[in-house]
Amino acid sequence: MYLLYLDDSGSVGNQNDRHIVLAGIAIFERQAYWLQTGLDRLAETLARRLGGMDPSRLEFHGNPIRSGRGLWRELGREEQRSVIVDALLTARALRGEWELFGVVVDKSALCANEPTDPTEYAFAQVCSRFDQFLARLRRKRKNQRGLIILDKSSQETRLQTLATEFRTFGHRWGVTRNLVDVPLFVDSRATRLIQYADLVSYALWRKFEHDDPEFFDAISDFFDREDGIVHGLHHYRNRQDGYCDCPGCVSRSS
Ligand SMILES: [Zn+2]
Repeated sequence: MYLLYLDDSGSVGNQNDRHIVLAGIAIFERQAYWLQTGLDRLAETLARRLGGMDPSRLEFHGNPIRSGRGLWRELGREEQRSVIVDALLTARALRGEWELFGVVVDKSALCANEPTDPTEYAFAQVCSRFDQFLARLRRKRKNQRGLIILDKSSQETRLQTLATEFRTFGHRWGVTRNLVDVPLFVDSRATRLIQYADLVSYALWRKFEHDDPEFFDAISDFFDREDGIVHGLHHYRNRQDGYCDCPGCVSRSS
């Protein structure tokens, strides 16, 4: 089974947010343990650096780390940014299969063209891309099903409705074939994989909302792709905004 851990950034209701992001990692069940272990090891190193605290108290969340809030205040600005990059690159040590998925929606662009709630649009896109990934595996005679796992404290309550009524919505999006049951919500303290999804979502948020690509650049090659086509990253934007160098847009325009 493949597990898709997801987290969101940006708010539909907040006028100050231009974008919303929904993103994370799809990982084969046995690999989940190794990513958790890799992030635990990084937390142990950081806990020693921060004076020997309990590593389980260190959670990887992009915003507090970059802003130097709480425990992260002890680190310098460059060191704070390195923690996020190092945590994102932990997945590189995995031997098995895993892919990143992400959807970035420019809210005003979407609302101008489609009468769709941005959260529903983003969730439908992620579910559909994950479903297509599983369908591709099936064609290669690797029958795997998928389960979506969301952060319990995700910003959008709409996401919770969409998840709990997934059977109805999933059918409307045509994606229930390869996915198991309804998505689960878990506490980010309980699993570092949700924390990893937070970092992926945050990396996209910093690039698209704040033109700060450092975190995204560390993971830009990790989004699901096949034969040079990037399926795992979808960027909904105004065409009038000109060229976009993200792999999702570059892949579609080539
Ligand atoms: Zn783009």
